[in-house]
Amino acid sequence: MDPDVAELTNLLRNARQAVVFTGAGISTESGIPDFRSPGGIWTKMMPVQFQDYLADAQARRVSWERRFEMEETWNAVRPNAGHLAVAELVRRKIVSAVITQNIDNLHQAAGVPEHRVIELHGNTRYAKCLTCGARAEIADIRTHYVAHGDAPDCKLCGGIIKTATISFGQAMPDAEMARAEEVSLAADLFLVAGSSLVVYPAAAFPLVARRAGAKLAILNREKTEQDPYADLVLHREIGPTLTEAVQAL
Ligand code: NAD
Repeated sequence: MDPDVAELTNLLRNARQAVVFTGAGISTESGIPDFRSPGGIWTKMMPVQFQDYLADAQARRVSWERRFEMEETWNAVRPNAGHLAVAELVRRKIVSAVITQNIDNLHQAAGVPEHRVIELHGNTRYAKCLTCGARAEIADIRTHYVAHGDAPDCKLCGGIIKTATISFGQAMPDAEMARAEEVSLAADLFLVAGSSLVVYPAAAFPLVARRAGAKLAILNREKTEQDPYADLVLHREIGPTLTEAVQAL
């Protein structure tokens, strides 16, 4: 076994309240491209800013059409070995919470209970009213869009509906940020898996945990700016590495 993977197993074995922090990199092995690797999503299309979404019906249409185009992909994707290893760590009570920047619902699909997943950037599998927060289903919105050329307004309050994700320019969700801080402060091990750690404020949590006394491990294909602060850095693929580390526990 690679000594770095053995060290990851060792850190996990000694942890009681580990936190896993994931980014787009944990889902690339499920076939969802990340943002910043070559060929990533941003090399192909500019994101719709939140203010434009609010102000401009055309921006909303662009946003919905992109979302509908992705529907088949979202329905087809399945958790990969990395998600399953994280779920196993939760099941064994080594990991108490999973903070994710991902919007793909794959931690829950892998078996992590809903209340242990903290979604900092929301979830693309459903939509929400921006005024009252009522949930709306993508399939219903699509049916309305096909018939009328626009997404419907909220059935309850008439507000604008948007996928339940956090867009550029949109405020971070207060409750999730508070919970993420709480679990980071309480963590004895903080494991980053598949994040370039450049999107703030999310990328601050590893440092919050480290300062509060947690060991910090970073598992990412490429270097990150936080590598110098980590107790263990693994520039490896997530699925095979986490599987090996968990099997050796
Ligand atoms: P990022 O694209 O900035 O970084 C991903 C990192 O993962 C890269 O450094 C890359 O080297 C690494 N990586 C990719 N595949 C890997 C693998 N198999 N093994 C090890 N490392 C691997 O992603 P980010 O830090 O999450 O920031 C991008 C933002 O985009 C996030 O806020 C997220 O909300 C959003 N996003 C989400 C999804 C998703 O839900 N699956 C996909 C794309 C983007």
